[in-house]
Formats: sequence, C-alpha cells, structure tokens
Amino acid sequence: MARRETPAAGPGSRALVVDVIRSAAAISRVELADLTGLTQPSISNIVRDLIADGIIHEVGSADSIRGKPRKLISIKQAFRFGIGFHLGPDTVTCVAVDLTGGVVGREVVPRQPADRLAGQFDDFTAGLDLPRDRVEGLAIVAPTPYPGGPEAPDLHALRAELADRLGLPVMVENDAAAAALGEFWSRRVSREQAFGCVYLAGGIGAGLVFGGALFRGASFDAGELGHMSIDYAGLPCPCGNRGCVERYASMAAVVDAARADGRLRLDPAATVSSAYDTVARAAVHGDAVAFDLLDRAAGHLAVAVTSMVNLLDLGRVVLTGPGVALAGAIHARRLRAHLERTAHARQRHPVVVELSAQPRDAASIGAAALVVQASVAPGHTNTPPA
Ligand SMILES: [Zn+2]
Repeated sequence: MARRETPAAGPGSRALVVDVIRSAAAISRVELADLTGLTQPSISNIVRDLIADGIIHEVGSADSIRGKPRKLISIKQAFRFGIGFHLGPDTVTCVAVDLTGGVVGREVVPRQPADRLAGQFDDFTAGLDLPRDRVEGLAIVAPTPYPGGPEAPDLHALRAELADRLGLPVMVENDAAAAALGEFWSRRVSREQAFGCVYLAGGIGAGLVFGGALFRGASFDAGELGHMSIDYAGLPCPCGNRGCVERYASMAAVVDAARADGRLRLDPAATVSSAYDTVARAAVHGDAVAFDLLDRAAGHLAVAVTSMVNLLDLGRVVLTGPGVALAGAIHARRLRAHLERTAHARQRHPVVVELSAQPRDAASIGAAALVVQASVAPGHTNTPPA
C-alpha cells in the first residue's frame, strides 16, 4: 500500500519522486502520484523540471486500463556521474557510477599520500573521458577508526582540502555505510523497506538505510556491528569490550584461527586478505578444515546480525565486502538458517538475505552512489560534523 508522505510539492518532494522512479525502474506519472501521495499537478511539475535538468527521460509507454497509453519515465542513466574512492590498507579503489548506480569505470591503484588524491581524481576521470561538467563530485570512504584501533586518515581535513583543489562537492563516509547505500541504490530497493548491509572486511561494519536515507547516528558512527558483543565474558577487544563479534568472525579472526589450527599450512608471510582468500578458496573446493573455520565464523556473525535484525526489524540484508567475495554462500546459508529459526518477526515477514554482486568493490561503488544520491535526490544526505 502506498505510504502518504510530503503532500506539499517542496524540495523534498523532488528527492522523493527521484527515489520512487529509481526503485521502480520505469513508472508512469499516475503511478508516481499513487506511490508518493503527491497530487497529479505536483507530479507533472516535478517531472517536467527533472526532464529539463536531464535527470529523467520518457522511455516508452504502457497500456492503460483507461484506454490511453501511459508514458513511462525512467532515470537517464549516462547523463551524470559520481566518483568514489575507497582507501584500503594498501590500495585505493576508484569507481565511477552513472545515475542508476551502474559502474562505468574502475581502477585500483597503490595507496598514495593524501596530497596525490586530487591528481588521481583528474587522471581517473580523464582516463574514462568523463566531461568535468557531468561529474557531480567525489566521495572518499575508509573504515571507521575506533578506540584502540589502527591510526586512520583524517577524512574531514582531507575533504576540505580536496573540495578546495577540485572545486567539486567532496563527501566522506565510512566504508560499510557507503556499501549499504550503493546496494540500496543499484538494487532498486524500495524506500519503504528497512534495509541493512553487513560489510565483512578487516573489521565488520553495517550500513542501514531507512526511508531512502543512510542512518548515521549521533556522530556518523552507526552500524558498528563488529563491536556488538556475543559473549559478555568472551575475548577482550581493543575497543574495551569483551566478546565483540569481530574477534570471532572478521577476516583476521578466521586467519588467526586457521594459523592456530595449522592444518591448512598458510604461508606465514601472507597478508590477512590473501591468507583469508586461501581459506575461502579451499572451503569452496571441499576442504573440510577450511569449511569448518568459515562456517564457525559465519555462525558467530549470524548471531550478531540476527540481533541487529531484531533491534531494527529489518526486511532485507545484503552481505558484502571482501570477506564474502569467494565463499559468501557459507555466510548467507548460516544467516538464513539462523534467521528462520530465531528472527523475532519471522511469523510476520521474511527477512531476505542476499549476497552482493560486487563484494570487493562495494564500498567504492557505494561512495560513488552517495555522490549520485546527493546530486539528484538531495535531502537524503547530510554531512558529518567537521
Ligand atoms: Zn570491540
């Protein structure tokens, strides 16, 4: 049933209309009025402006029960672009997306000093031949720093400096939140759905999208799933708590457990991500030791994710990040089974569990989608405190 919201045709209505067109793929003006609760004249005005601005276009018509064919409108895919940079431990993943969240370019370069990022932006957009006036901005994402954790770049200082040098809007966000927005945007998730994303990487984060907007909390720190405790007397965590799920289910935790076990004979010099990939590859090829290590980690993670689902009454969860790139089905199966048995709302609605199509690039794609959303559906995105 249509939810009635924002009955007046103000600036928020434009964002609402763009968001409904995005999730519907192609939609008529009549359906738009139904789904947004806005009046037909308001819809006509907003649609006319969006067509004039090049954000949407007419894509054909569908039969109408009243006889007259209805013109369908859709997001104009290749008109404007968002750029996302994901700062990983050793690399920067650069991605460009169009207005539907589709990836139009990708490049992975070695991690470089902050003062090289503006040059990297110029090189990347020039390499893709993206006209500067169609590039809506840049978003930089990185893991959220936490007490006791590794030193992280000062994203706010970086944002101010890059905005100055590029003359374009620059946003910053944590990797898990960005990944959630990217999945929300490109999967055409409806704004009605309570949507969550679990980002499994060096740490474990979650991103939450409610009413089409990322949920940020008091200080842009919402979604710290990795530091949700699953055992009050469990392993101590650098954050100060005990039993944080990250200590049992992160990529590093799996590699530590595999090394302690010894049977997989991991290369002692391998990085966490390459050792983890070795375990995941062995698991999908039928190695029982590797499978058990991952399945146990997935079981721990399922407990924490179920608590998050229960706390927020989520309807859909996407698993993403490099930790689910090779053997994500193990995680998806564990989580589905756990939710079917224990989700509080299981008799009222299913909780859909899906795997990301681009788990390794999800954070950079999400960063670029954040730029697109801020540009064509403003009002969903605010800026973190400096
Ligand atoms: Zn912790």
